[in-house]
Amino acid sequence: MNLSWDEERIRLGERMRALGAELGADLAAREQSQQLRAGDWQRCAQEGVLGLAVPAEYGGLGLDPVTCALAMEGLGRGCRDNGLLISLGAHIWAVQLPVDRFGTTEQKQRYLPGLCDGRLTGAHAITERETGSDALALTARARRDGDHYVLDGVKRFVTNAPIADVFIVYANLDPDLGFTGVTAFLVDRDQAGVTVRPRHEKTGLRTSPWGELTLDGCRVPAGRRLGAEKQGSRILTTTMAWERALILAPLLGTMQRQIDECVRYARSREQFGRNIGRFQAVANRIVDMQVRLEAARLLTYRAAWDLAHDTVSIFSEVAKLETSESAVSTFLDAMQVYGGLGYTTEVDVERNLRDALGTRISSGTSDLHRVLLADKLGITTRQRRTTPEPVRALHHANTR
Ligand SMILES: Cc1cc2nc3c(=O)[nH]c(=O)nc-3n(C[C@H](O)[C@H](O)[C@H](O)COP(=O)(O)OP(=O)(O)OC[C@H]3O[C@@H](n4cnc5c(N)ncnc54)[C@H](O)[C@@H]3O)c2cc1C
Repeated sequence: MNLSWDEERIRLGERMRALGAELGADLAAREQSQQLRAGDWQRCAQEGVLGLAVPAEYGGLGLDPVTCALAMEGLGRGCRDNGLLISLGAHIWAVQLPVDRFGTTEQKQRYLPGLCDGRLTGAHAITERETGSDALALTARARRDGDHYVLDGVKRFVTNAPIADVFIVYANLDPDLGFTGVTAFLVDRDQAGVTVRPRHEKTGLRTSPWGELTLDGCRVPAGRRLGAEKQGSRILTTTMAWERALILAPLLGTMQRQIDECVRYARSREQFGRNIGRFQAVANRIVDMQVRLEAARLLTYRAAWDLAHDTVSIFSEVAKLETSESAVSTFLDAMQVYGGLGYTTEVDVERNLRDALGTRISSGTSDLHRVLLADKLGITTRQRRTTPEPVRALHHANTR
């Protein structure tokens, strides 16, 4: 794996960090009202963030996954609004990516340019009241009716739902087939039979709007089916491999910023006549934070590297598991470093901690990730499915 960045990539990372620092105004107030700042979303569109991974012919930058990880880490380093970063990730990895990978030319032309330039916002709707971790055991139904499909079902916890113009919706076309009957659809918000309700106050990531999507006899033109009939399971697997690898890349930047702030605090806060960083307990705690971050960072880039090389591996799940768990541990440690101040809303620690808790659940819980890894490692299946191979030979840049 070659992570020796060229000048162009270094500049991209710095540009994203500077952009991130511009974003997130009125964060405390918007946390209360659970609002994403529309101006920030548009700034990200102007700077190419929304189109990082989309091919240039559809209005994006067409960057490879490793460079995307670098850009998003840079954005996270500058940006304090973790909710915005998660909303961007859902839009990019769970909507643009499957449209690009599985969409028809007509679908790509219709959706991708608007999803890149900020005219359209996307949301990914799979979770239901009865189905979460067992994601494909859907109760949402699709039925063919002439040149349309009719969709019925209720999706919940859908990130971006209140602001979305287009949803990727999963529904079962043939329940007798179980998960192999699942099919994906592109559903426009303004279609008859679509209702969106912002539901549930969140613990963290409060500036990332989410909600419930109800489809009630919603007639979707056959041309809006994404992929083939009954290909939903494959589309979801591909989407999740990308989302799990990359959606938490900004959190690496957030963790680094938090650690830098802890170092500054430990060097300036005095107790017993000396800086608290002089106490080994405090110093070791911060060292452990950095060690955890370095592990999460390498795993994220390794997962991105494998995506760039179309290598089926364990690293998307490993990276997501490690980064989300590391983030929670890191922000807990940061709270301890700051003492009572860390428990107040005067510093970012408590908000980062609340935000990080959500990342252990979204895109599959940590428990589910261990289940998936046990499966991939052949612990719970008869055959070992994936061998953790050494990284492939050096390879560069735009692989798409
Ligand atoms: C911040 C955030 C954003 C989200 N965004 C979206 C979105 O954009 N679109 C969308 O469709 N959904 C979204 N979700 C929903 C998310 O995907 C689900 O919450 C998640 O998959 C877990 O499902 P569940 O909540 O139904 O929990 P359940 O599946 O009911 O799990 C409950 C508990 O049981 C454990 N468990 C379940 N199965 C197993 C198993 N086999 N082995 C061991 N333990 C198990 C879980 O780990 C958990 O502890 C989001 C969630 C969050 C928190």
